[in-house]
Amino acid sequence: MLEASHVYFHQAADVLELPKHLRGILLAPFRVIKVVVVTEGDDGKLKHHHGFRVQHNRARGPMKGGLRYHPTVDEEESTALANLMTWKTAVVDVPFGGAKGGIDCDPHQLSEKELDNITRTFVGQVQDVIGPTLDIPAPDLNSNAKVMGWIMDEYSKFAGFSPAVVTGKPLHLFGAEGREEATGRGVMVVLEEALKDQKRSFEGLTVALQGFGNVGSFAARLMAEKGAKIVAVGDHAGGVSNAEGLAIDSLLDWARRHGTVNEFPGGDAFKSDDVLTWDADVLIPAALGNVLTGDNASDVRAKIIVEAANGPTTPEADHIFKQRGILVIPDILANAGGVTASYFEWAQNIQQFRWELDRSRAELTRIMQKAYRAVAEISRRYQVDLRTAAFVLGIRRVGEAAISRRCYT
Ligand code: GLU
Repeated sequence: MLEASHVYFHQAADVLELPKHLRGILLAPFRVIKVVVVTEGDDGKLKHHHGFRVQHNRARGPMKGGLRYHPTVDEEESTALANLMTWKTAVVDVPFGGAKGGIDCDPHQLSEKELDNITRTFVGQVQDVIGPTLDIPAPDLNSNAKVMGWIMDEYSKFAGFSPAVVTGKPLHLFGAEGREEATGRGVMVVLEEALKDQKRSFEGLTVALQGFGNVGSFAARLMAEKGAKIVAVGDHAGGVSNAEGLAIDSLLDWARRHGTVNEFPGGDAFKSDDVLTWDADVLIPAALGNVLTGDNASDVRAKIIVEAANGPTTPEADHIFKQRGILVIPDILANAGGVTASYFEWAQNIQQFRWELDRSRAELTRIMQKAYRAVAEISRRYQVDLRTAAFVLGIRRVGEAAISRRCYT
């Protein structure tokens, strides 16, 4: 994934005619933190995991990005994702740099107490390099509002009460209205804008979705409300399809109770991976990275791909999609609704003020529409795909801030 993020960076740097030395500087992370997180399990035995925080770039403000909990988390993946966060925050023009991190544990194999312990131990180890004006974590894969609440509480033991140290917190713990749904809402808004460019709407549009977690489920519900038919959903355990459109609320209820969409009675079962090549107008990968590759890109049948996940498309697949005329709305634009609402939460925490849900939704829609328009405009002007255009916008904004501040990483 790191290599892929560099390939995409260089494609845009070529358009910008960025000198070589500046490329190296902008790609280099400001700081890489790796710790061994030792905790006592419920069985009384010592366990250890590896915790990472890669702080990529500070030129545009405090660094920002999620914390993921997954056995495959490592330094390379965290670096790639931190790098993407730098361009993402710049594309939506929120006043942050980029960071990312995680712990290589599987929360499904841990009790709540064990997860709490691992989280708090990690926070203790990184507390001197995170903070409301330094680096602000957020939810990501397998981490949620509850985990963010633990982070806030633990950090506050070191620094005094600090709700703005982390976003995506529970509403009763200084979280913000609209944050949870924001990534899914942003996905819907950018797709709506892309459809407008094609003089189309959601009415009757068929959508195949990989992943039914926070991002996928909110995106599905919002698109269905606008008249789209969610015809196939696949997750880690299986897939379910319905040509007439799946009943999203019942599917959500099922997934909440069973931890998967598998065996949902309102549709026909299929093998998870088949969702990527489903016969639908739009494909939305909303789970893991590197799922669209040189091996399956030629079989994709959708005409539009919206990257709700981070890094779902390898450069080989991206090349094939370009050749086949498939429109890809890239991750650093498509899923930027989450970090945008995180910015709202952080700003509210700092001001000790609360916004109503309507305000959050309206501001999010405005920012996502504006970002889409700016990217589409660059894509037209330079005759490049949306991903390259989004990178051009992000790199240009970061580069300008870096050069005028003389703060390069
Ligand atoms: N984890 C989300 C992302 O990849 C949100 C990051 C944030 O809110 O800081 O964009």
